[in-house]
Amino acid sequence: MARQRKTQLRYKRDGKCVVCGQPVVTKTYCLKHALGARERERKRMGFKRRIRSLTDRIGEKEINDEFTPLPLPYSKKMELRYKRDGKCIRCGGALATKRYCLKHAEARREAQRRRNGSKRRNNNALSYRSAAKRARRKTQKA
Ligand SMILES: [Zn+2]
Ligand SMILES: [Zn+2]
Repeated sequence: MARQRKTQLRYKRDGKCVVCGQPVVTKTYCLKHALGARERERKRMGFKRRIRSLTDRIGEKEINDEFTPLPLPYSKKMELRYKRDGKCIRCGGALATKRYCLKHAEARREAQRRRNGSKRRNNNALSYRSAAKRARRKTQKA
């Protein structure tokens, strides 16, 4: 057995993070490595599904603000924080509309259009104009 593997087992037996031996917050990892494992897992899933787990709540431990004590899901609280900070409430990116970055404004518009039977388009919506601007820039470059 590789030495590394033995150390891992020892850490595990002692209730320590199997990567670094720090105190655990999940079954096998410390906070840092639990978050790292979660990211890896997300990548493996192709970012399609958000994993709502213990580590989601642990992620919040690092944040301590007026929203932390609220009885809301972690994602909802992040929304409120992003909103407060003037960021996209979905991803925390730079705003293109009042509440969303360009990507999420477009995603939201698409979702809305599907809901409205996709008959009417609001061609003057800010996100349309931003997209057009971006397209123009691309053409100029080429
Ligand atoms: Zn660790
Ligand atoms: Zn976004």
